Amino acid sequence: MRFIETRGNDGIKPEYVNFSDAILSPGASYGGLYVPEFLPEPGIPFLEKHLKSSYKELAFDILKTFDIDIDDDVVKEALDLYDKFDDPDNPVPVVKVKESLFVSELYHGPTRAFKDMALQPFGYILSNLAKQRGEKYLILAATSGDTGPATLETFKNRPNIKVACLYPDGGTSDVQRLQMVTEDGKNLKVIGIIGDFDDAQNALKELLASENFKRKLQESGVKLSAANSVNFGRIIFQIIYHLHSYLELIRQNEISLGEKIYLIVPSGNFGNALGAYYAKKMGLPVKKILIASNENNVLTDLIQKGEYDLRSRTLKKTASPAMDILKSSNVERVLFDKFGAKRTKELMDSLTNEGYYKLTPQELERLREDFEADFTTDEEAKNTIREYAQNGYLMDPHTATCIKLFDKRDNKELKCVVYSTAEWTKFAPTVLNALNNDDKKYKDLEALVEISKRLGVRIPLVIEELFNKPIVHDTVIEKEQIEEEILKFI
Ligand SMILES: *Cc1c(COP(=O)(O)O)cnc(C)c1O
Repeated sequence: MRFIETRGNDGIKPEYVNFSDAILSPGASYGGLYVPEFLPEPGIPFLEKHLKSSYKELAFDILKTFDIDIDDDVVKEALDLYDKFDDPDNPVPVVKVKESLFVSELYHGPTRAFKDMALQPFGYILSNLAKQRGEKYLILAATSGDTGPATLETFKNRPNIKVACLYPDGGTSDVQRLQMVTEDGKNLKVIGIIGDFDDAQNALKELLASENFKRKLQESGVKLSAANSVNFGRIIFQIIYHLHSYLELIRQNEISLGEKIYLIVPSGNFGNALGAYYAKKMGLPVKKILIASNENNVLTDLIQKGEYDLRSRTLKKTASPAMDILKSSNVERVLFDKFGAKRTKELMDSLTNEGYYKLTPQELERLREDFEADFTTDEEAKNTIREYAQNGYLMDPHTATCIKLFDKRDNKELKCVVYSTAEWTKFAPTVLNALNNDDKKYKDLEALVEISKRLGVRIPLVIEELFNKPIVHDTVIEKEQIEEEILKFI
């Protein structure tokens, strides 16, 4: 399978690349992204064949349909990392919460958030490629919470890869910070930045543009790569669980093969939703994909009105911080798929230059063939958490943005799968606020213990242990010192 570019080719970069090149050097012409030249369409027979497959067997065959240039053995070893999940036989449980409502729980991996679904196997494959080619890579990450821990966890002690991870000091939850600063791999550097997430992200961008930095890396024989959510190596692993969830509903005798279902996806950078869209195009019987947002509802406007408008917006801090995003990167891949490279470049250029683009009515109609969108306020999300906890289902605030929208829908005929992207333990203070209907500032540990006692739910060992582990990264610096600090580490 060859990969092409969402904004067309600039005559300098190659016109086509392999999967391995697309994931090692994910930047395409004109700031675009890599996409497969066409999507495989294995359809219903593929689902039928996999009615009894394990998650790993299904995953292996889906990757096969993309005909990627990675050895089968390496793919299998990468998929074996799902054995680290709570239940190796079923890394993604699909739980019936009430009539027509099923939650696909994507958080049973090592860092208790859905980033593990893709980053676990992706990290293995990337490191393996680097080793095969005899190349050394530096992965730079700026995180507000979930990506950092999952990136560190997957690359820890892997050959030919080093990771430098920037986080805003004081801008993450205790659990998220501890997940990073207690990671003890020799190839990892975690740096707290004095400032907020934007400062950390801007610092990273400046670093990527710095000639001095690039020269020094070159002198040390180190190349730069990125593990962010636009890397197609992550997207490909986010197609699998959508098919798996459908097969689970068949196995649970809730639907028959071919019956359409409805999906609700909590969205930020649109990686999860893009995986759902690709799954639909590959033949998964999906009626619509509902894009759930929090009050940063730029995607709601895009899909309801056809306008992507950043001009009047500032980022709001909400109770679902992993969805606090205004520039939702993977939307571009849908634009490309529907409208082609020329129009995608036009729209994305307009977004960069004017902070705005508008689809034609025909284009909007085509977008709405696959997507619907709505958003949930923090207040609504907290009420939803409280209400469902009383009935025995505990969820995190990101998941609540979706469940609220399920409840708002009148039409409950179709069975609906909601994707749960984080365990409650990652956002315990917010969950306790929801249960108590207050807005006190709880400490993570205090909230974890209180919720666990009150509802009789277990805190997983990987979370409990964090509070007693030695802190191995205690660097907290000003933005200006980052370059020097990373070069020292290299
Ligand atoms: C990353 C993340 C999201 C958003 O997923 P996208 O693929 O970026 O849309 C939602 N919830 C949680 C908990 C996350 O970590």
